[in-house]
Amino acid sequence: MRILITGGAGFLGSHLCERLLGEGHEVICLDNFFTGRKQNIVHLLGNPEFERVRHDVTEPFKFEVDQIYNLACPASPPHYQHNPIKTIKTSILGAMHCLGLAKRVGARVFQASTSEVYGDPELHPQPESYKGSVNPIGIRACYDEGKRCAETLCFDYHRQHHVDIRVARIFNTYGPRMLPDDGRVVSNFIVQALRGEDLTIYGDGTQTRSFCYVDDLIEGFIRLMNHPTLTGPVNLGNPGEFTMLQLAELILRKVGGSSKIVHFPLPGDDPKQRQPDITMARRELGWEPAVPLEAGLDPTITYFRHLLGK
Ligand code: NAD
Ligand code: UDP
Repeated sequence: MRILITGGAGFLGSHLCERLLGEGHEVICLDNFFTGRKQNIVHLLGNPEFERVRHDVTEPFKFEVDQIYNLACPASPPHYQHNPIKTIKTSILGAMHCLGLAKRVGARVFQASTSEVYGDPELHPQPESYKGSVNPIGIRACYDEGKRCAETLCFDYHRQHHVDIRVARIFNTYGPRMLPDDGRVVSNFIVQALRGEDLTIYGDGTQTRSFCYVDDLIEGFIRLMNHPTLTGPVNLGNPGEFTMLQLAELILRKVGGSSKIVHFPLPGDDPKQRQPDITMARRELGWEPAVPLEAGLDPTITYFRHLLGK
């Protein structure tokens, strides 16, 4: 197949490009390199089946493709809050352009949605049927509401124009190729520990997240995209749930060194708890994560060691 990946030079996108090329597909990687890096895909450039296109998804684009993975959007809070209006435009216009293209060429669209559609959830763990608790005017809204609206667009294009859609709600994922200054918690803690700096916990550290290793997530992407009928939304994530204090202690133990834990104020609207209910993914896709946090941190730490020369 010929497959378009928007945001293909980012953390998840570059792993997906690699996986799909490995399966013998032709891959077009479209990216504006806001948070993506050429370094993430440089090893793919020699492959004749790989094509890199510098383009912004807020502008229309046209390719003859069979499948579209729509991943373009900054994902870490500091990056998506850097230019919130651009973030919401990226989510909404990017989804519209992907869905419009899919309608014209008959392609299937995979939308990278997020656990953020559940906001600061009152229901725990979160099943797909939970409608969420999102502050529409807070500092995370540019991302959360942008992604919620992108889901709406997917389902309206599906109902109105019969566009074939697959919507994945992705929970916190980590692994090699995250940016060292990405701002997300796993990369922050590892980079701080490797540099001998103190680990910055926001708030008291009792808030929880559930962390999925990138290889597991990409396997979930492929299974959902190639499912014959399931539109989703489907939760994809690892149900193993940790407080930020537990994560900091685990990373300190693995990296070693003399870093301590320091506390900073909790950012606005920071969700207190998050854990995916993956019953649907297990049942419909036969998918569940194989890599526990303990194991997935090792290759991630090794990647950052090389990157930082530590
Ligand atoms: P990332 O920031 O590494 O990748 C995003 C990519 O999109 C980057 O390459 C960036 O340059 C590109 N991009 C941003 N705006 C663009 C635009 N206007 N036009 C073209 N390209 C643009 O983040 P990631 O972790 O790889 O996330 C990929 C997708 O998965 C995002 O849509 C994100 O919302 C979603 N997601 C990720 C996670 C996670 O934990 N990693 C969780 C939930 C959802
Ligand atoms: N966090 C933290 N220290 C950091 C970065 C993040 O304590 O240096 C916290 C953050 O407040 C949140 C959790 O870790 O409670 C996960 O943050 P991240 O930005 O990785 O993802 P998200 O909040 O989008 O799930």
